[in-house]
Amino acid sequence: MNDTPKPEKIRCDACPVMCYIAEGKIGACDRYANHDGLLVRLDPLTIIERTDQKLVPFMKDAPDDWDGDIVKGARPFVTAVGAGTTYPDYKPAPFIVSQDVDGVDMVTVVTEGIFSYCGVKVKIDTDRHIGHERDVVRVDGEPVGHVMTSEYGSKMLSLGGVEHLTGGSKKEGRVTCDALLRLCNREPVTVQIGEPEHVIEVTIEAGKAPIINGTEEKLMRVGCGSAAIGMFAKQWLDHADDVVVVDDHITGVLSEHEAGKQLDVPATGIKIKGRRSTPGRYFQVAEPGTGWGGTDIDDPLTILGPFNAKVAQEGMRLLMVSTTGEQAAYYELDAELTPQPKAMPAPLQASAELIAENCEPSICSVLFMGGAGGSLRAGVTENPVRLTRSVKESLTHVSCGGANAYVWPGGGITVMVDVLDMPTGSFGYVPTPALVAPIEFTLRVSDYDTLGGHMEQVQPVDQMPKETLRRVAPNPQEHDPMAQANYRWSKGAGT
Ligand code: SF4
Repeated sequence: MNDTPKPEKIRCDACPVMCYIAEGKIGACDRYANHDGLLVRLDPLTIIERTDQKLVPFMKDAPDDWDGDIVKGARPFVTAVGAGTTYPDYKPAPFIVSQDVDGVDMVTVVTEGIFSYCGVKVKIDTDRHIGHERDVVRVDGEPVGHVMTSEYGSKMLSLGGVEHLTGGSKKEGRVTCDALLRLCNREPVTVQIGEPEHVIEVTIEAGKAPIINGTEEKLMRVGCGSAAIGMFAKQWLDHADDVVVVDDHITGVLSEHEAGKQLDVPATGIKIKGRRSTPGRYFQVAEPGTGWGGTDIDDPLTILGPFNAKVAQEGMRLLMVSTTGEQAAYYELDAELTPQPKAMPAPLQASAELIAENCEPSICSVLFMGGAGGSLRAGVTENPVRLTRSVKESLTHVSCGGANAYVWPGGGITVMVDVLDMPTGSFGYVPTPALVAPIEFTLRVSDYDTLGGHMEQVQPVDQMPKETLRRVAPNPQEHDPMAQANYRWSKGAGT
């Protein structure tokens, strides 16, 4: 019989899962552990400091070389990364930190929010077809979101959200949460879009080029076909009689386009298959795909009908080019008025290269979007609706990991933030399933008092525990949540 006493398990109450954690073990989310009978948050609390030092690697083995003086040099901003949560809702935020900012007493309330209502909006800079609007996006066979309205030069996905996290099967929720977590922490996620007969595979990683069906995208188009005609019309004069910029959305034709008319480009008798919108602008010249200009064509001549024999002439010169300039072909009409491929004259080759040069690199952008619920707001004030009002009145500034968070109009505190502006490793999860994301509320101490804040919990920044802090440099946007310009009172618009 073994008389060795079993190690005491302690209960974590930082989320509804309420893990019992044995000595030396970690909880189900990997964020909390039992160290000598104490429940500890494993990731260090992160502060942003305006120094010349580079970002400190997150949770790497290198010890923090910081000397412990958090007010040395410039003032720090305490983020919620690594702070812990307020669950089960009655507790004040883990850190409520005050400091003098240019003569004004400010306070920052930091919490890691547990977001059941959250997701990501993904912007993928590409012309290529990655799926129809409303197509289902899957990971490991589970639906995690859908294709939404395309934007100029970009395809858009909406992933996650409470319907996928909680409204489907257990596996759907788990896979969705895992995909969101990896995307928010800047890791690659491969998704399948569409139904079995037309699945397109896209690998998404914040700040990196998308990989579509195994091919890495390079360029985001300079504009639609019509815009490209306008932008480059002058380059083509004297070198081509007509130019077609092939685009899945709006294909442009120089001789018919207003830009061509104003530059006295004569009619060529060209005929484009597709729906004519306005002169020189055609919709639906082909099906969407991964070919020229986001269409499904590899041979641009397939979008041309027969030339009008009353207008066209043998020897007419035709340039066809895609919206990124990556594909271009040159033709001359033969005696039957059929375009015949010819070597591209140097000035036209240069114009195609100029289109490509004017394209921006194709990247994926991942924006976290979530709503600050009751738990979060109660951690800031005992009267949560006052916090919402304070945010709307620009008395309270909202940031996520120190990054500027766009707060949506209307009710609640629904925020959207670029994950690349946040410190690395900002996100965690709990198995309920939900994402854990940092959120900070910064305001004047006097305003905090007025809205019923947890004043007894306010601690000066120089009394923060120094041993476990992780220090990072400001993000490239240099957003300062404590800058007075963020607040209505700085503009003399009321106190
Ligand atoms: S999942 Fe994590 S936060 Fe939730 S109870 Fe377990 S250890 Fe605590």
